[in-house]
Amino acid sequence: MGGQVTSFENVHVVVVGGGFGGIAAAQDLKSRGIKFTLIDMRDAFHHNVGALRASVQPGFAQRTFIPFKETFGESFVQGRVERIDTDGQLVVLEGGREIRFSHLILATGTDGPFPGKFNTTASRQEAVQAYEDFVKQVQAAGSVLVVGGGSTGAEMAAEIRTEYPDKKVVLIHSRTELADPELLSSVRDQAKQVLQEKGVELLLGQKVSNLSELPLNVVQKDTVVTTDTGITVTVDLIISCVGLKVNSAAYESSLAGSLADNGALKINDYLQVEGFFNVYAVGDCTDVKEPKMAYHAGLHAAVAVANIVNSLSGKELTTYRTGNVTLLMALGRDDGVGQFNGYRLPRFLVALGKSRDVLVWKSWWDMNQKQP
Ligand SMILES: Cc1cc2nc3c(=O)[nH]c(=O)nc-3n(C[C@H](O)[C@H](O)[C@H](O)COP(=O)(O)OP(=O)(O)OC[C@H]3O[C@@H](n4cnc5c(N)ncnc54)[C@H](O)[C@@H]3O)c2cc1C
Repeated sequence: MGGQVTSFENVHVVVVGGGFGGIAAAQDLKSRGIKFTLIDMRDAFHHNVGALRASVQPGFAQRTFIPFKETFGESFVQGRVERIDTDGQLVVLEGGREIRFSHLILATGTDGPFPGKFNTTASRQEAVQAYEDFVKQVQAAGSVLVVGGGSTGAEMAAEIRTEYPDKKVVLIHSRTELADPELLSSVRDQAKQVLQEKGVELLLGQKVSNLSELPLNVVQKDTVVTTDTGITVTVDLIISCVGLKVNSAAYESSLAGSLADNGALKINDYLQVEGFFNVYAVGDCTDVKEPKMAYHAGLHAAVAVANIVNSLSGKELTTYRTGNVTLLMALGRDDGVGQFNGYRLPRFLVALGKSRDVLVWKSWWDMNQKQP
């Protein structure tokens, strides 16, 4: 554990990970005039809420990657964090560069299969190109199989049928209900209804038998896929929307004693990593029992930054409390389902508020940049 910091002059907050949690923390620190460094392996923030729209609509991807430098200038460093030295209060990057911190905010999020996630070291241009290339694969396929019917898989299937209503789209899901288990069952039923109305073929309560052997994200005409119940489907393109895992590589060796089984960081009510007063964690890499959402990552960031300030000024720390689940699912650009504060929302309202542009405007606004 590092030594106590007593004055703002010696404060240097390092934020590892520039996802929704990381940029919210960095913007908060910037607005308070606190010295900080934001580190991400990429040169641009990924509004991955829009990743699935970017997978079907040509030209959309460039709206989902927002350069860090324009917003954070010299306070942004591109690099992959390999290790944290908590005794020396250092963050160690690939290649050996060390950055000293007085306080650390870990916001390394989760990784998962493309196109839902894009956690690769790549320039903005390469990232945008990866999505544009993927759109061409979707366009070239006569039929598409989406594996996994959580929120990402359900949204993926809906996006394809909305943009390309002539394509056959099959969704295979291991459970009988779609979307996040934390959602009201009436919202989950409605998600199923929307997909059926859009003509998505649902194979529920079964698993793809040989997923690891199947070609993903590239057109391979007439690929035969079998489920564990013996059903066979023949498709041209397979997209996996299963298997999110916590990005723990940056801290797993140094914070081994504070890790949950899945690599998430155990934190206290103030969002401090267990055993440390100056190391905080926010967003998907925490083991807070709530749905993993961009919205929650932003709320965490506000509490972590407030608590850094409170601790420095000798004030009581703020507690983070999970509220009622608020979640909006865009099911194509013209439809959606969701709930607010425990109540199911009308579909047209979700379509209007979220689905039309999957809230890209908000991230450009948060990054204080003009959308292209
Ligand atoms: C397809 C999809 C749609 C979604 N839609 C919604 C939605 O509509 N609403 C909602 O609230 N949530 C949504 N979510 C969930 C939401 O995207 C996540 O909860 C959110 O991204 C979590 O933010 P985060 O900052 O914790 O992590 P992330 O967004 O995962 O960001 C982590 C960042 O850390 C960086 N990083 C990781 N390791 C290192 C390292 N070692 N060194 C340097 N950098 C590193 C990565 O490059 C990345 O930029 C969606 C998720 C998906 C996949």
